[in-house]
This record gives sequence, C-alpha cells and structure tokens, in this order.
Amino acid sequence: MPLPQKNRYPRNRQRQRRPQRRPLRRPNKPNPKSNRNRQKPHHLGRRQHLLHSRRLPHRPQWPPGPPPASQQHRRNTSIPHRHIKFWGGLALKTQDGGKGLVEDELRAVKNAGVDVFFDTAATGLLTDPTSGAVIGVEAVNNDSVGVYKKITIAAGAVVLAAGGFEASPQLRAQWLGPGWDCARVRGTPYNTGEMLRIAQRDVSAKTAGDWSGCHCVAWDADAPVDSGDREVSNEFTKSGYPLGIMVNRDGERFVDEGFDMRNYTYAIIGRRVLQQPGQVAFQVWDARTVAWLREEEYRGKVVRRIEGASLEELAEKCAEVGLADPGRFVECVKEYNASVEDGDGQKRWDPAVKDGLATKGLAVPKSNWALPIDKAPFLAVKVTAGITFTFGGLAVNPETAAVISETTNDEVPGLYCVGEMLGGIFYDNYPGGSGLTSGTVFGRRAGRAAAERAGKSGRLEPL
Ligand SMILES: Cc1cc2nc3c(=O)[nH]c(=O)nc-3n(C[C@H](O)[C@H](O)[C@H](O)COP(=O)(O)OP(=O)(O)OC[C@H]3O[C@@H](n4cnc5c(N)ncnc54)[C@H](O)[C@@H]3O)c2cc1C
Repeated sequence: MPLPQKNRYPRNRQRQRRPQRRPLRRPNKPNPKSNRNRQKPHHLGRRQHLLHSRRLPHRPQWPPGPPPASQQHRRNTSIPHRHIKFWGGLALKTQDGGKGLVEDELRAVKNAGVDVFFDTAATGLLTDPTSGAVIGVEAVNNDSVGVYKKITIAAGAVVLAAGGFEASPQLRAQWLGPGWDCARVRGTPYNTGEMLRIAQRDVSAKTAGDWSGCHCVAWDADAPVDSGDREVSNEFTKSGYPLGIMVNRDGERFVDEGFDMRNYTYAIIGRRVLQQPGQVAFQVWDARTVAWLREEEYRGKVVRRIEGASLEELAEKCAEVGLADPGRFVECVKEYNASVEDGDGQKRWDPAVKDGLATKGLAVPKSNWALPIDKAPFLAVKVTAGITFTFGGLAVNPETAAVISETTNDEVPGLYCVGEMLGGIFYDNYPGGSGLTSGTVFGRRAGRAAAERAGKSGRLEPL
C-alpha cells in the first residue's frame, strides 16, 4: 500500500502555509533583553542558519585606506539583507559543522523511530531469486565488545550510503594512480569501497563517473595517517594558500595559488601537493596576511606554526621539519616578490573577489591576490595531501537514485544509492559545499522512492 497522502511530505505542506517573510532588519538601537532580536533558527533545523544572520569577525585592513566595496558589503551588518552570498558563493552553513549535522540527523531518526545499528558492517545484499529485487542486507554485528555475529535485515528497499573508496590504500592506488596509497585520509577509515564491490558482486550494479578523480585538500602534515580525527575534524584542512604562496621541499613554487576562488581550488590543490617530492609543501605568509587566515585552521592549538623574523630564519626552521633546500626557498620567495606587479594603482588587494593582482614573468604565476612576502614576522605551515572522497561510483536513475544494472541496463528493483557512492556527479573538480548538497538532493529522492516501494511491498518491518 502506498503511504497515506497526508503523511507524505508534511514539511512541504507547512512551508506552503507559512506567510511570506519580511526582509531582515536590524533595529537602530538593539535591546539586549528583547527576544525579537535573537537569531531565529532556519526552517531546515536548529543548527542550520542562513549565513546572513552571522556576524563577521573583525579583520585587519590591508592595504591602507577604506576597504573595497565588496568588503564593505560583507562587513556592514546593518544593511538589511534578504539573501547575500558569502566568500566563495556559499549561502548556507551548518551550525557546529559535521558534528552538529550528525547530531541533528541522529535526533531526527530517533524521533522517527528508526533503529540505528552501530558497529555493524553490511557484507552482502539479499535478493529475491525470482524477481532479482533487493529484499534486505546481510551484516556482521558487534554489539557486545569482541562478539561478532552474522545478522540479516529484511527490508522493502535498501538505500546504499556507505561512502567511496578513499580509505582503501589499495583501491586508491589502483584507480587514482601511483602515490595515492600514501595520501592521508580526512574522514572515516571505514569508507573502503567495500559496498561498491558488494553491489557489483551481488546485483551487477553498473558503475559511473570519474574513477580516477577525487576531492583532495592541503592537509596538516602532522595529522593522523589513515583517518581523520573526530575531535579536530575539518581543522586539519589548510586552505589559506590564496593569501600567500606554496613552496615544495626543494624550495620551488609549483602551483598558481590564486587561479580561482578558494572554493573552486581547495579540492584539487591536494593533488598538486601529492605530486611534489615527499608529498609535502610549505604554505608561507608574511605579516600582511597572517591575520586573515582562518582561526579554525591556523591557530596555534591545531597546527605547528613555523615562525621567523626573517625569510632566512623561516627557511632554517622549515629545514628542521623537512625543507631540503632552505637557500633555494629564500631565493624563490625573493623572485616571487620581485615579480609582484605594482599595477597602475587601480587594482586593490581584495580576497573577496578575483582582484587581478598578479605576478609578472614567472614560470609559475600567481593570478590573483599577489602581495610581496617581505614584511616580518613570517609564518609557514607544512602540509600534505588529504583525500576527502572519491568521485567514481554507481550509475543511478537521477529521478529516484535507483541503482542501474550492468546486465539489463535497467533499475535494480529495491536498490538505491546516494552520497559518495553515487557516480557521475563530479569530474576533475568540486565546488565547495556540493557534497552535502548532492547528499540532500539524492538522499531525498532515494528516500521518497524507497519509502514508496517499501510501502507497496508491505515490508516496512524488519523480519
Ligand atoms: C573533514 C571533512 C569535511 C567536509 N566538509 C564538507 C563541507 O563543508 N561541505 C560539504 O558539502 N561536504 C563536506 N564534506 C564531504 C561530506 O562530508 C561527504 O560528501 C558526505 O558526508 C558523504 O556522505 P555519505 O553518506 O556518502 O558518506 P559518509 O558520510 O562518509 O558515510 C558513510 C558511512 O558508511 C559507513 N560504512 C562504510 N562501509 C560500510 C559497510 N560495509 N557497512 C555499513 N556501513 C558502512 C561508514 O562508516 C560511514 O559512517 C567533508 C568531508 C570531510 C571528511
């Protein structure tokens, strides 16, 4: 039986009834006691707010003079905004990052009466021998410490969301290429591609997308090797390179640090670091830009900050942690400094837009945000490559996220796939924020299709 219509999409119905919002206005004299001025949660959930409700941190002003128009727009919180775009084009954020998101999800599934099995690995898909439809999963469960037992979970439909193969050194080397087995893993150690293999083995699932592609960032070289850290989480990411330069172990620049906005470069910059000798690089800034670095990524508590009163001192300190040629490092920074264009006085340094402040005459240019690095004190941070997820996955019907069979080229009845396991979304690069957008869009489609199918099959309860 299909689910009763009234229970299907209650949120949509609520949203239609909601009166149109008035533009946000900040009162002339804020009254701290008034509830009216408190931030209201966005309808997506308590932890998710439109970014226009966020106060911007104080930033130092550089170069001297009034900040450019785009900065004024970003800073002036008294301007009534209905929607504004933030740095890199993001318009939405989750409160407390991934940790907050998972807390919200757990609360939502608990409220919906969903059973969650921790320490349980799916090992196979159960199929109906006549129709070929997926009717459940086999799993190994470890609910009391050290005691593993095989279980089967019957279901009217199964949605696969077990991640890509980023945590498997063997599969990384096989699909992404040489050297990738040595990349650090940013997230869970359990996304080993096992479920991709099981889907191919048990139901001949068809694959899709860019199997040699992945999301990979500049990542703290001191971070754990095989997985991220649940507490530190995203803070190992080091995405401040557009504000400075990156130099490899031999003291050479190797990438245009300013070829686009951070949100369009950070997911491919890790690949460039991985290609360097020793798979490491040093990010370098001077006194002009250090204060613009993100606190969450560069404060002393989360990263080893290498500081020097001169470029020479900085190079010597970097040599203590792996810089092979400090002399060349200093020369390289000086060559870079000499190539920074003064311009005609019209261009202003502005990290909120592609400002066109570029180097001139270098084999490896810097196309935007190029300021000289000559004002003490200097700062460097050692980075390596941190893989987030892989792009290759399973082929699906985009309307329902139903998995496609390699054998029949038709949908596998009762099987859906979302998130990193879904292939064909990303090729070569990745715009910031789109992983969770993909998960939201296809998660909803898969959830709706799976619920409809499970409702029809009458198998809503586990056997
Ligand atoms: C540090 C970090 C920061 C990120 N920041 C952002 C961001 O700011 N914006 C954004 O959009 N995206 C971000 N992402 C990417 C985003 O988190 C992922 O795209 C998203 O979580 C993918 O969802 P998923 O369900 O496919 O995989 P996951 O969220 O990785 O979940 C997969 C789950 O499957 C489990 N699993 C694996 N194999 C099995 C098995 N055989 N049986 C049972 N369970 C299994 C794993 O343990 C894991 O819990 C970030 C990722 C990381 C690691």
